[in-house]
Amino acid sequence: MKIDFISIFPDAFTSYLDESIVRRAREKKLVSFRFINPRDFTSDAHKTVDGSPYGGGPGMVMRVEPIAKSVAYALRARKKERARVILFSLRGKKFSQRDARRLSRYDRLIFICGRYEGVDERVAKHIADEELSIGDYVLSGGELPALVVSDAVVRHIPGALGKKNSLEERKGSYPVYTRPPVFEIRAGKRKRKLRVPEALLNGNHAEINAWREKHGRKME
Ligand code: SAH
Repeated sequence: MKIDFISIFPDAFTSYLDESIVRRAREKKLVSFRFINPRDFTSDAHKTVDGSPYGGGPGMVMRVEPIAKSVAYALRARKKERARVILFSLRGKKFSQRDARRLSRYDRLIFICGRYEGVDERVAKHIADEELSIGDYVLSGGELPALVVSDAVVRHIPGALGKKNSLEERKGSYPVYTRPPVFEIRAGKRKRKLRVPEALLNGNHAEINAWREKHGRKME
């Protein structure tokens, strides 16, 4: 899998992608990343990537041309690949675990990260294959959404997770505890004992599974 991030802030990605599971997937050559800056595809001296909105209103809009050229660059001479171009947008479909699994089957993902007041709508209509939102809140740019989706997708690439880490995807998320079995904290003058649920301590696997089922949440 190859992931191309189209962003005017390429430095925003590096520290996250250099840690933990994503890092290991990269080291195992299961995934590789490229950073494509729309500024490098401008034709004026000032490298302008934005313009004021037609019809008025606050803020600036990302221009279609540098983004179209960035996407064309990402896709060039790669006809045999299964590629998907994704625009991050508040009007997009809400991203879910099901999308993460679906996207993990492509050879190349191209993520367009908006900034300012958003991206010229011609990108959504004619250049991107789909629009995704990561939730109903406004972020300052598409970089965090692109990282969120990348992380969730990389976890689905065969071999990216060790066996131990794949539990949540298979069985859903459930509460977990580790030692000590009893932890004492002070609550004002009193002490309280915080205990690990009995069902998890007695080694009865049927009971443990039932407890986890009851308190857990299945992923799609
Ligand atoms: N005024 C714009 C919001 C701009 S936010 C509007 O009302 O649509 C700037 C950019 O950040 C967006 O273009 C999008 O690429 C990204 N973004 C912000 N929040 C997001 C979210 N929750 N999910 C996906 N992308 C988001």
